[in-house]
Amino acid sequence: MSASAFERALERITAAAEYSDMPEEACHRLANPKAMLTVSIPLRMDDGSLKHFIGHRVLHNDLLGPGKGGLRYHPNVDLDECKALALWMTCKCAVMDLPFGGAKGGISVNPKELSMMEIERLSRGFIRRIADTIGPDTDIPAPDVYTNEHIMGWMMDEYSHAVRQYTPGALTGKPLALGGSEGRSTATGQGGSVCVDRWAKRASWTPEDTRVAIQGFGNAGRAMARLLSEKGYRVVAVSDSQGGIHDSDGLDIEEVIEAKEDGRSVDEIYCQGSVSDSCEVDQISNEELLTLDVDLLIPAALEDVITKDNADQIQASVIMELANGPTTAQADRILEERGIVVIPDILANAGGVTVSYYEWVQNRSGDYWDADRIQERLRDRMARQFDRVLALADERDLSVRMAAYVLALERLGEAAAALGTREFFNGRV
Ligand code: NAD
Repeated sequence: MSASAFERALERITAAAEYSDMPEEACHRLANPKAMLTVSIPLRMDDGSLKHFIGHRVLHNDLLGPGKGGLRYHPNVDLDECKALALWMTCKCAVMDLPFGGAKGGISVNPKELSMMEIERLSRGFIRRIADTIGPDTDIPAPDVYTNEHIMGWMMDEYSHAVRQYTPGALTGKPLALGGSEGRSTATGQGGSVCVDRWAKRASWTPEDTRVAIQGFGNAGRAMARLLSEKGYRVVAVSDSQGGIHDSDGLDIEEVIEAKEDGRSVDEIYCQGSVSDSCEVDQISNEELLTLDVDLLIPAALEDVITKDNADQIQASVIMELANGPTTAQADRILEERGIVVIPDILANAGGVTVSYYEWVQNRSGDYWDADRIQERLRDRMARQFDRVLALADERDLSVRMAAYVLALERLGEAAAALGTREFFNGRV
């Protein structure tokens, strides 16, 4: 039987633990999620019928603080995937030195088949089911794939009703008018773009000569495309779930965003009439995008898209993982042998959780910051943690992914040791 997503995620952590001073007991803590809840949510559909949907919330670990992690609406959501994503969140918060543990959740649903009002009722129903386990001091959800600020707003409202107290700090990624933070909606792309700039400086890349391909044009991918193109990088390919477009001279990203906002899919953009007629750019599949001749490849959609079957064909010299878990462990080994650098998800896409942290701090203090303050803090933290991870990779001759895990494990290990390990209780420390 093949290993589950959680077991595969854990294998990578165990491998990294060999390079860190983490006590063995801390590893056991990571192998055992703290709490897992599965619920059934009844939903009255617009046509009067009743359906049930399955939702999950996993609090993986709270050694460093309350759980933090997104809620995803996708047909593939299951408990195993939530456990794996929650484990990554534990590591991501530790890499970024945030006072949070890791959590994740979601509903197994295709939101594209629901009306807006059905999505609202489903979201509120989910929160009523999990209200006892989340909260500003226990576990703080945020947006993820196919959830957004409106959904976070409804959820915060529902949570506040459940606990009979206005509680904006229970969820992050909310609309500004409901206690959201400046900069949250673009934070993941913003943080990723800081990583690109740091790498460009290190590798002496100039933006106009750097060709970038981005898979996924949602919250994370779209903001990244816009920021990189504003900074002068040549974004030559983008895609969404329907397919992608490619122009080696570089795409006009503002035009693509405008067309997307008009409700068109990426592969329809620039095309008049039937899809195959008069396209000004090449239409490509999501698979083709991954193997284009570019300098920087940014997977920003779903997990497990770079696998042993296509890792040999990747032409980019650097992969920046804006999505969570886009590269399988087998692919990772192939990429490493080929000298392709992977800036891992737990570092590259940590801008989102970092501004979520700022949102939570603002909600709790009642002191709201302007966009410049958020930008500056995000830039500083991303650059600092990126440099720390890269320095560790150089110092110990590790891949960037391994170095990021080692940094996370050392922080988690310190907290576990402070609670006492076998050596401590046996009087050997
Ligand atoms: P989103 O729902 O806003 O966008 C998802 C995008 O992926 C859409 O453009 C969709 O068309 C595309 N997509 C879906 N299926 C696809 C497929 N099979 N092939 C190619 N593209 C496909 O989601 P998002 O918030 O942008 O999240 C994308 C990734 O980034 C996820 O892995 C998520 O966990 C990660 N991430 C997001 C944030 C955040 O703040 N939004 C933070 C950290 C990590």
